[in-house]
Formats: sequence, C-alpha cells, structure tokens
Amino acid sequence: MSFNIEGLESKSPQEVMKWALETFKDRVALASSFGAEDVVLIDMLVKISPSARIFTLDTGRLPQETYDLMDKIREKYKINIEAYYPDTRTVEGVVKEHGFNLFYKSVQLRQLCCKVRKIDPLTRAMKDLDAWICGLRRQQAVTRTEIKKVEIDAAHNSILKINPLADWTETDVWDYIKKNKVPFNALHDKNYPSIGCAPCTRAVKPGEDVRAGRWWWETPEQKECGLHKGG
Ligand code: SF4
Repeated sequence: MSFNIEGLESKSPQEVMKWALETFKDRVALASSFGAEDVVLIDMLVKISPSARIFTLDTGRLPQETYDLMDKIREKYKINIEAYYPDTRTVEGVVKEHGFNLFYKSVQLRQLCCKVRKIDPLTRAMKDLDAWICGLRRQQAVTRTEIKKVEIDAAHNSILKINPLADWTETDVWDYIKKNKVPFNALHDKNYPSIGCAPCTRAVKPGEDVRAGRWWWETPEQKECGLHKGG
C-alpha cells in the first residue's frame, strides 16, 4: 500500500493502520488505556497483524475494572501487552513530600503526579518508536477538534502520531464494539465515558460532557494529562 500522508485522511482506520505497520514495522505501537476507542483499535490491529505492538501505561492507580479488562483482552486475543511503570524511587519521593492524594491539592501537583506516573513512562515507551497509534477522536474534546489521522507529534520528538478514529463518532465506536463483540471496560455501563486513574475519574451525569468526569475539580481548561499536548 502506498499513499502519502495527506491521502490517508480519507482512508478507513484499518487502511491507516495497515499503512503504519507496513511503513514502520516494529517501530510503531498502539498506546492503549483501554477506553472504548482503544479496544476498537486493538480488535482491528490484531486482525491486521496479531504481533503488532500494543503498550499501556500502568500508573498504579487504575480502577480494578481496567485491570480486569486488560487481562480479558490478553486472553481473548492471545496478545502481549507491554506495560510501562513509573519509576519507583521517584514515586516514593513524591508521595513522601506531597502525600498519597496530591492531585487534589493543586493543578501543579496533579500535573506532577501525571508526569511521574504517565509522561515519564510514556517517554521511555516511545524511545524506540517512529510512530504511535492513539484512539483520539475530534468529537471527544475541544482540545481535539483539529487532530488529523496522521500528524507530526511535536510534543514527542516529532515522530508520527496516528489517530485512525479521528473522524469517528461515539456511535461509530459503540456500533463497532457491539458488532464485533469486543470486550470493554465495565465502568462504561456505569456512566464513565472516559476512564483514567481511579482517583481522577468519576461518572458523568446525563447531558454532561464526556470529559466532565476527568479532573472534575479543576477548571474546564484542564482536561488533558499532558500525553496529548496540543491535541
Ligand atoms: Fe496521578 Fe490522577 Fe494523573 Fe493518574 S490521572 S497520574 S492519579 S494525577
């Protein structure tokens, strides 16, 4: 398959991921936090190439439902999930200085926690990558309306960021999950549209924005943890 990056905008998620795997081989990986979009991408990716790389950031603060789902996915698809962890000594130092629930104290401390538990491990995960695949959609948040299916990721050494579901709606996502019997996080059935760490995620009320349950105690502008800066 050969088409240029601009041409990929009109391609299906599977075509975009096929192109990525053919182009980057084991230097491309899917970053998964096992949300609804991520499980769709895992199902598609494994069907294209069962050995495609999938990694996750285990912050140590994930909900039990997410760990249950990760094992379910490992077993169903018989795949390895590369898990990256925070540096133990750094976590020990941060907790000693700021406490176990530092994220509720200030935006700065919440960002420090996200840096130690997510961004630093992501930096390690991306060391041997030329491209990464994410489940971002334009409709998810005001910070994501401009994303392209394939774009340069200036926040991460200008490697390629691939968003195969950029133009999908939430209905597209759930139609795919149901049609293909893809396992999904049990919290989605308890009004959690967007799921991150347990202390920083809550259920949303009817009519609330899908990202309203993330870091809800902060101002509306603080709805990204730093993994997808500018996106
Ligand atoms: Fe820490 Fe919350 Fe960020 Fe998870 S989402 S890394 S618990 S601040």
